[in-house]
Amino acid sequence: MAITYELIKTCKQTGARLGKVHTPHGSFETPMFMPVGTLATVKTMSPEELERMGAQIILSNTYHLWLRPGEDIIEEAGGLHKFMNWNGSILTDSGGFQVFSLSDLRQIEEEGVHFRNHISGEKLFLSPEKAMRIQNSLGPDIMMAFDECPPYPAEHKYMKDSVERTSRWAERCLEAHQRPHDQGLFGIIQGGEYEDLRRQSARDLTSMDFPGYAIGGLSVGEPKDVMNRVLDFTTPLLPSEKPRYLMGVGSPDSLIDGSIRGVDMFDCVLPTRIARNGTLMTSEGRLVVRNAKFARDFRPIDENCDCHTCRNYSRAYIRHLVKSNETFGFRLTTYHNLYFLLNLMRQVREAIREDRLGDFREEFFEQYGFNKPNAKNF
Ligand SMILES: [Zn+2]
Repeated sequence: MAITYELIKTCKQTGARLGKVHTPHGSFETPMFMPVGTLATVKTMSPEELERMGAQIILSNTYHLWLRPGEDIIEEAGGLHKFMNWNGSILTDSGGFQVFSLSDLRQIEEEGVHFRNHISGEKLFLSPEKAMRIQNSLGPDIMMAFDECPPYPAEHKYMKDSVERTSRWAERCLEAHQRPHDQGLFGIIQGGEYEDLRRQSARDLTSMDFPGYAIGGLSVGEPKDVMNRVLDFTTPLLPSEKPRYLMGVGSPDSLIDGSIRGVDMFDCVLPTRIARNGTLMTSEGRLVVRNAKFARDFRPIDENCDCHTCRNYSRAYIRHLVKSNETFGFRLTTYHNLYFLLNLMRQVREAIREDRLGDFREEFFEQYGFNKPNAKNF
């Protein structure tokens, strides 16, 4: 098996899992946050910087790489790791999410999905077999099954049909996957907010024995208590000896709440996207560095952070760079935000090791301001 999971211990206070995922490109500790490098680059960061900040696995997007430069070029380069010079683990999604979120002209059939290229308008078709072929060419350590990503909210009837189609597609993905010896394929549990459908989806997919499972269809606009409720009844349906990945989640509170519910892996564009807007995550909540009040503030972004940005640069300087649209400003804010989440996960793992993740959650939420009424945090 290309991917194996090692459970190190379970937090006595919360049930969160401390573990390790072993891949052909090294192991990473869990719970873990995966920075997103959509086009084979985590925007503005070099692989050396990612390594220095503690990233152990990154995510890249099949749909975008398929359109440009094309998976054939990446295969010719020796695969994604070589192409982008990243020696850690890589996970690619299946392209399904982009087909359903970026393209408005789409037609879902049993065979696959017809849609238009979001850049050129050209007609395209993606199917389970094609998504596997592309990911086999890209060569990530972990690849994802091609699934349907229904919108939120969706009617029970629609969701049931979709869950059943996703299960049939998952079987076709397993069948089409050419490199199970060095690439692990994860199945995706769908079913929206419906417990019976999550149960059905989990039953279908766990019977196919994937090396890992993702929970999809969350963080698509539903309130956080809905996400937590769905996780409460979904993670217990998944095998404890395999890794669990909650797709598209990256706000600090959800990373902690997801870990408490037994999730091992997370990814999200949030930290990198808001960084390019001048918004930073700090131990005391969010900081919008463009604000005039920081013009003469020579303190670091986060006085409790020991990242490269915070050790060397001030709010006033970063504000100046960001307001002037200087690339270096976006590099500094991106570095800090990614470091902040990777460091948060380090603290989560430490708290699990010491059976105090519940206490850690209380302290973090208090300091971050999540407990305040009308807290405006991501
Ligand atoms: Zn920092």
